[in-house]
Order: sequence, then structure tokens, then C-alpha cells
Amino acid sequence: MMTLIKERVPTPERPVEERLKGFMEVNLGYTFELAVKEAERCLQCSPAPCTQGCPVHIDVPGFIRKLRENRDNPEKAVKEALEVIWACNTLPAITGRVCPQEDQCEAVCVMGKVGEPINIGKLERFVADYAREKGIDEKLLQEITPKIEKKKEKVAVIGAGPAGLTCAAELAKEGYQVTIFEALHKPGGVLVYGIPEFRLPKETIEKELEKLKKLGVEIKTDYVVGRTVTFDELLEEYDAVFIGTGAGTPKLLNIPGINLNGIYSANEFLTRVNLMKAYAFPEYETPIKVGKKVIVIGAGNTAMDAARTARRLGAEVTIAYRRGEEDVTARVEEVAHAKEEGVKFEFFLNPVEFIGDENGRVKAVKFEKMRPLEERDARGKRKIVPTGETVVLEADTVIIAIGKTTSKLLRMTLPQIEADEHGVIKVNENMMTNIPGVFAGGDAIRGEATVILAMGDGRKAAKGIKQYLEEKRKSS
Ligand code: FAD
Ligand code: SF4
Ligand code: SF4
Repeated sequence: MMTLIKERVPTPERPVEERLKGFMEVNLGYTFELAVKEAERCLQCSPAPCTQGCPVHIDVPGFIRKLRENRDNPEKAVKEALEVIWACNTLPAITGRVCPQEDQCEAVCVMGKVGEPINIGKLERFVADYAREKGIDEKLLQEITPKIEKKKEKVAVIGAGPAGLTCAAELAKEGYQVTIFEALHKPGGVLVYGIPEFRLPKETIEKELEKLKKLGVEIKTDYVVGRTVTFDELLEEYDAVFIGTGAGTPKLLNIPGINLNGIYSANEFLTRVNLMKAYAFPEYETPIKVGKKVIVIGAGNTAMDAARTARRLGAEVTIAYRRGEEDVTARVEEVAHAKEEGVKFEFFLNPVEFIGDENGRVKAVKFEKMRPLEERDARGKRKIVPTGETVVLEADTVIIAIGKTTSKLLRMTLPQIEADEHGVIKVNENMMTNIPGVFAGGDAIRGEATVILAMGDGRKAAKGIKQYLEEKRKSS
């Protein structure tokens, strides 16, 4: 009889003192031996709930089986595991690192009922990293590329985030001529400007982008659709368009003092540090000054990233959240790392005013204390009510991380596109908008979501585009 091994094989992590000195990746991932040991815990369930829990339905037991079946031949094990993963997910080095696994594949893992769920994310990351290190992914790509039959149709993809990149890769594999238009000077979307290096090394994204270029995808950066080129111009030149513009406009707080210096949206703060490398000022041009005390408002992934980044810039950091700890939305691993790194948490505090000094710079935040009720709202979070009692916390810098919304620019240049009152674009079951040939996916159609959901949309949209172009070809 098989013995159940209840505890996970842990992945090594960088010590806290070392982490706080820079932006190096915190989790160091499995070696082959450790990955096989973890893979051996898997019960190989059939049907497999973990596959259903994954938004893109990766055959999880299938790829895990390849690792343990070929334990004497690491290269074969990884190649075969990668083939299984690639059938549904072309960016496993990224999803293995940033997916909220505890709410998806790992949430429903059968092992989780008797002990710790299988460490699916870390196994996926291991396969991707090892394949890259040994050039296995390169060889696999070379096997696929010559078989691609080139087609004459051209597709424009707007936005180089996970939705756009996945849609582009899938279409290129089908032989379509794909051009991505990206507003920023680097492709990657939130993966490059939002998620910090210590969680997702930029090198990982660059390698994935190289793969895309090898598939023949052209990427035009510094290209703002709606400014550099109009939407109508794109529609004239391309046979279909995919909109993957994300939800990059930060929500701010409409309270007194919001215009004081030293108050950033998390987006601006993270972009300065991640994309413009402000931590290396003056070697890089963009400066950032956080002072001694930083308050981060919010408790999602963005808030954790901002808080941990500010710690690395030398500040004491407090996360202030209007709800309780049970309603924190960030990934469990990120919260644990933030705590280990000395980030403090204050719950049930709702900001009501930013207080400035004589130079117009923020010096404190006034919060109203909130009280939780037993009742829950539609999202399952405990309702909170104001108590009338206030508290003031000192701050040299405040970072607001309370969410983001879609950009108005595209909708201004494309007023006929159907969207809800928040600007979230509407699509049908094939991801097509109300404009024939124009498809959309990712945060642009969901508001804020996750990397894997954006990738799943990009993939589904690529299928929709293929079907649309084939029908168009037949009828012409
Ligand atoms: P984006 O990644 O936003 O990419 C959109 C791209 O479109 C951008 O590059 C933008 O510059 C470009 N663009 C916009 N308008 C135009 C235009 N007019 N012309 C040309 N280009 C344009 N999710 C997770 O699953 N796990 C995490 O750990 C996680 N952490 C996060 C941390 C932070 C700080 C943030 C901000 C988000 C995080 N998320 C996380 C959410 C996740 O990153 C997003 O859901 C995902 O990136 C959405 O992908 P997308 O392709 O739809 O959009
Ligand atoms: Fe789990 Fe994400 Fe991998 Fe799916 S893509 S199996 S949800 S880590
Ligand atoms: Fe393995 Fe868990 Fe999936 Fe079962 S549910 S196949 S134990 S990963």
C-alpha cells in the first residue's frame, strides 16, 4: 500500500537579511532530486480535481507523472513534462511563480484533505526553469517551428501583457502574421512594470519573449494605440485585432490631502522601481525617495509588492487595511514573505485624510477605525462599519494600492465598442467584441484578475480569431 507523505518537500529560500539588501529572487525553487521527491507524493487522481482547479486545465498528474517515471533521466523527464504543460500553458516559468495556486489547482488537491497539497506551482516552475537552463525548451520549439504553415492573414495585438503575449504565441503557432503594439518601452505588461524582480526575475520574462520572437511575432514598443496609430488604421491594415490592454489606471482615494507630495499610486511607485530601476538612481535616471516611514493602503498582491519593495529601499513599512486579516487578497506566500521581511500590518483602518507639512509633503495619515460585522457581502468578505474613532499614523511616503481600472484611451478612440460602466469591454463566448474581427481578453474584459486568467483568455481569443479568419476566407 502507498504511504501518504503529508508534508511538502520545502523549496529553499533566500535568508531575510540577504533579501533586504537587494531585489534578488526570494524563492530558490526545487532541484531535480527535490522535485521528484515532491512529485512522488502525488496520488495520480483520476479524474484529477487539480486539473479542474487550473483555469487553463493543465494535466497536472500527467506532467507530475513524467517527472517520476523518468527519475533516472532528468532531461527526458523535463522534456516530457514540459510537453504536457505547453499543451495548455506556454508561460509556466511565470505561472509557476505568480499563480494564486492556493485558490486554484492546489486548493482542490486531494492531498490537501489529509496534509499539505502537492506543491504544483513550484513543480511547474521547476520544469520551466530546468528546461530553459538545459536548452530543452529551445529544442522543443525548434521541433515545432518548421511544421508551422505560414498564412497570409495579419493580426494586430494591442498590449504585450500575459493576455496579448499568449494570444500572439498561439496565433503565430497557427502560422498567422502577428504584430504586437505595446505602449511602454518594454513588453510584458504587469509582469515587467508591476511584479518586482524578487518575485519574478525580469530575465524569466525576457526568455519567454525571445521564444515569441522565434515564432515570428513582431513586437513594436513605444506604440500607443489611440495616439501613435489610430484604431481605424489598424483595422484597415489587419484582418483581426486582439485588445489586451489590461487595467492599468490606478484607483485613487477622494479624501483631503490626496494631492500632497509623497503620495504615490502603487502603479507609479512600482513602475518607477521595476521598469525605470529607480533603486539604482543616479545610475538610472528616475529617482525615488521613500524616507523612513512608509504606509501602504490596501492588502492585495499590489500592496504586498509595494510594501516589500519599500522595505528593500530601507523604510519601515506598515500595511493599513480597512478589513481584517482573513480578507487579505494577496497570495499567501507573499503575505508570509512580507511578514518575515518586517512589514507591519494594521487592520480595520480606513484612511480619511492625508496630513501635510508646511512644504506640502505628506507627514501622516488619519484613519477611522472600522468594526467588523458577522454578516458577509456578495464577495464573501465580512462587512465593516465605521466606529467614529480615529487614529493618526506618521508617514514620509504613502502608497495607495486599492485597485485599478481600465484605460479610457482605447475606448475614446473606439467609442462604438461595448463596455460596462467601468469601461470593462464586453465579449461573446469566442472573445469577440461587438465589432466584427475585434477580440479582447485579460484585465481589459475582467477588470482586475490574474495572470493565468489573462493567458487563458488570450488562448481562447486566438481560437476565436482562427475560426473568424477561416470563415472569412471561405466566404471571400
Ligand atoms: P497587463 O499585464 O496590464 O498588460 C497590458 C499591456 O497593454 C500593458 O503592457 C500596457 O502598457 C499595454 N497597453 C495599454 N494600453 C495600450 C494602448 N493603448 N496601446 C498599446 N499598448 C497598451 N496576478 C497573478 O496571477 N499573480 C500575482 O502574483 C499578481 N501580482 C500582481 C502584482 C501587481 C503589482 C499587479 C499590478 C498585478 C498583479 N497581478 C497578479 C495581476 C496580473 O498581473 C494581471 O491580472 C495581468 O497582468 C493581466 O494581464 P493583461 O495582459 O490583461 O494586462
Ligand atoms: Fe496551477 Fe497556475 Fe499551473 Fe494552473 S497554471 S496548474 S493554476 S500553477
Ligand atoms: Fe496529484 Fe493532488 Fe492532483 Fe491528486 S489532486 S493528481 S494528489 S496534484
